[in-house]
Amino acid sequence: MQVTIDHSAGFCKGVEHSVRIAEDELERGGTLFCLGEIIHNRQEVSRLSEKGLQIIDHDAFSRLKDVRVLIRAHGEPPETYRIARENNITLIDTTCRIVRTLQQRIREDDAEALPQGVQMVIAGKKDHPEVRGLRGQIPGTVRIISTAEELAGIDFRKPVCIYAQTTFNASRFESIKTQAVELSNAIPEGERGPLIIRNTICGEVRRREKTLAGFCRGHAVIVFVSDPTSSNGKFLFSICKTNNASSYFVTGPGELEAEWFTGADSAGVTGATSTPLWLLQKVAEKITRIVSSQQE
Ligand code: SF4
Repeated sequence: MQVTIDHSAGFCKGVEHSVRIAEDELERGGTLFCLGEIIHNRQEVSRLSEKGLQIIDHDAFSRLKDVRVLIRAHGEPPETYRIARENNITLIDTTCRIVRTLQQRIREDDAEALPQGVQMVIAGKKDHPEVRGLRGQIPGTVRIISTAEELAGIDFRKPVCIYAQTTFNASRFESIKTQAVELSNAIPEGERGPLIIRNTICGEVRRREKTLAGFCRGHAVIVFVSDPTSSNGKFLFSICKTNNASSYFVTGPGELEAEWFTGADSAGVTGATSTPLWLLQKVAEKITRIVSSQQE
């Protein structure tokens, strides 16, 4: 049986950059703190913790002084930078370039439309660190929604700006977009406020979504490796399931079950944008061992 690792899987560029910088900083010695888990993958977090990375939450961060703290790819609100300045904390800022651009875009749109009372909306997960970083960019209220139905409370007579968390589900964002346009158009021209919809879903996530469907259809069995807390992982696994009913979700090689591969002629191994390549390789190696022992 052939076992293939999806060549488009592994870290996205933003996460790859954060992990590389963390490793470089750890090699320089001394303590390196990271504000929140560097990525949504416990196995990669524990690998880096063994090298000396210490994960802290925002409470612990506000009590630290004169230390080095890494900001992960998801980014942080301005408040974090203020605390760092006051407490003489050196920030190793690895905010993803795409997230940084989105933060700036929100600030600019808010400043431009503010005099008219703009309503800012982000399609995303309320407690996701990227979303917390985005909503902190402006002083006013930001509504976080996850479905088109949640647009019901918005007044389209006033300006509305809608964005997406970079890893938000593309088809769900399309429904939100369609519904927002319909609600806005239901108001007579001249009475409705401007509607700005920015599709800020990361291109890397969208590309992976496209190639993943083909990869899943090309293999008898799919093993998807991810941490269960990764929203991107949940979303990409749903694509696997849609395109191949024999798709299985695991966090690592220990969860593989021999019966999944009985009679299969090929297996594909893939994962979330936060799943390290080394973990995909371990899973692929274990599948090969399982299949070899079945053939003995
Ligand atoms: S998914 Fe895209 S936006 Fe998010 S960290 Fe990765 S590259 Fe950056």
